[in-house]
Amino acid sequence: MYQTYRGRMIAYNLLIFLFIFFFILFCLVQGTLFTFLQQAKSQLNQINNDSQLYISEQLKSTTTKENYKKIFYNNSSDYCSTLTSTENCQIFLYDVDQNLLADSNYNTQKQYPFLNSLSLLSEDTGSYLQYSEINHMPYLYLSSHLTIDGVQLGYIIYQYPLKSVTDLMSTTMIYYLLALAGGFLVLIVITLSYSGHFIKPIRDLTMIADEINNGNYDVHIHYRRRDEIGDLTNSFNQMTNNINNIILQLNLERNRLASVLASLDDGVLAIDQNGQIITSNSYIKTYFNVSNPQTIYDFQYQSFLRDIFDNLKNGKNHISEEIECNDRNLLIIGSPIRQTGFEENYLIIIRNITASKHLQNEQKKFISSVSHELRTPLTTIIGYTDMLTRRQVTDEQILNRSLTTINHEGHRLLRLVDDLLNANRLDKAEFEVRKTNLDLHDLLINVIEQMQIKASTKEIEITYKSDPELPEILGDYDRLQQSFINILHNAIKYSDIGDVIDVISTVENNYIVTSIRDYGIGISKEEQQNIFNAFYRVDEDRARNNGEGGAGLGLYLVKQIIEKHEGKISINSIVGEGTNVTISLPIIEKH
Ligand code: ADP
Repeated sequence: MYQTYRGRMIAYNLLIFLFIFFFILFCLVQGTLFTFLQQAKSQLNQINNDSQLYISEQLKSTTTKENYKKIFYNNSSDYCSTLTSTENCQIFLYDVDQNLLADSNYNTQKQYPFLNSLSLLSEDTGSYLQYSEINHMPYLYLSSHLTIDGVQLGYIIYQYPLKSVTDLMSTTMIYYLLALAGGFLVLIVITLSYSGHFIKPIRDLTMIADEINNGNYDVHIHYRRRDEIGDLTNSFNQMTNNINNIILQLNLERNRLASVLASLDDGVLAIDQNGQIITSNSYIKTYFNVSNPQTIYDFQYQSFLRDIFDNLKNGKNHISEEIECNDRNLLIIGSPIRQTGFEENYLIIIRNITASKHLQNEQKKFISSVSHELRTPLTTIIGYTDMLTRRQVTDEQILNRSLTTINHEGHRLLRLVDDLLNANRLDKAEFEVRKTNLDLHDLLINVIEQMQIKASTKEIEITYKSDPELPEILGDYDRLQQSFINILHNAIKYSDIGDVIDVISTVENNYIVTSIRDYGIGISKEEQQNIFNAFYRVDEDRARNNGEGGAGLGLYLVKQIIEKHEGKISINSIVGEGTNVTISLPIIEKH
């Protein structure tokens, strides 16, 4: 049963009050009774002395010692009535054989509760005091020997009424009970008010403890007095302060950890022994498309995670696996987290290695294609030089054709090696563009002139149109020249014999926009998205077969160079209809 502290406090106070009240009442009653009885006793003794003296004088004045008994027996009624009338109590006279001689009540009294006291008295010479009630009336009896001049005449008993005492006691009792009721009420009122005062800080503490229980730690109790409750509230306030500080620190640490986890490019999953997720970062949700996972079993479509968890649970120390999931290559690393005093937990790291895997594959492809590309011209060169040395050819025509082919293949090799070197440099800081004021019109005329020879081999005509006065741009002449050569080279490569290539330069919004338009085989939309990636070639066989294939670095290099000039490059192509490569370069701003 729930008992309030305040209720108990009030109950204890009332009990203490009752105990003290009744104790005082008991002491008062006992004290009053004792005093009253003492007074009655001394009064009775006095009455006894007076009565004995009266009887003695009466006998001595009327007879001699021998006749004392006889005269006493005869006059006992007179003595009794005289004494009763003078003294304030009833008197009974008995002979030596304990027979009643005279009764002041004239025998109306039927019970004599004091009779046995006479038998006690017969062996005793003194008087005997006894309390008794008759018809609910309290009396005090004093029994005494009646001996005059050594003659035993009988006994005398005095009945002293105690009614006045009981009346007094009952009146007093009424007042006491009224005082008890009043005191009780006053005490209840006082205890209620002061207990409320004492209970208040405890109530405040309880309220604040509830607040803390509900997660609100930013609470304080205001209690100004310097006492035990003050010490308690101070400690409590200190405690909430400390808790707040700790929570603040914990939150700080948690946020720090969360931001570290969030900034990781890897998915992190910490799991306890039962498969409950202790922590996970946002990458996990993104990787596996699971919102707010709680257990390892929430990843129902990623059974490999459960397998790794099971293996770790079975005691495996380190797990590293590469898997394919949702078109991605993932490296899964699992290891136990061991901390003394704590049960073993597990950490699973998921790394998306799709890009590096792709790069790896690309590099493999690149190495094989570069080797192939290097091999093709080298085989041709070696084939021709072998033939020329072995056969000792003297025919000038054959010699010329052979040397032209060797030269052509040599250039192709050189271009390939140049592209490789440039691509390699691009990744490093040493690749820098040395910008000077340059006239793009001149540069384009120069490039077209250079490419004209190559175009003529396929009977291709290169046309050039430009705004009459193109403004100057800031750029690296050699690198821009190389870029336009690459684009035109591609346009020639992928055009049919007898085609036209249109080069047009215009000024648009502070840019010189140059488009190189061919009407060759074109590039599909999907391929266009990858065309600027390093080592990407649309159709390796197509490039290779026409003997002009590069390493897939041409457009990649061009894009890097144009971007170093704060320019833009875009490609627009339709398969079978041709390709339009557009390069925009910023013109020098006039101040
Ligand atoms: P490469 O140096 O090997 O020529 P590029 O980066 O210059 O490589 O070109 C990448 C791919 O884009 C080539 O393999 C080619 O198939 C395609 N390509 C580039 N320009 C054109 C074009 N004008 N017409 C058709 N295909 C082209």
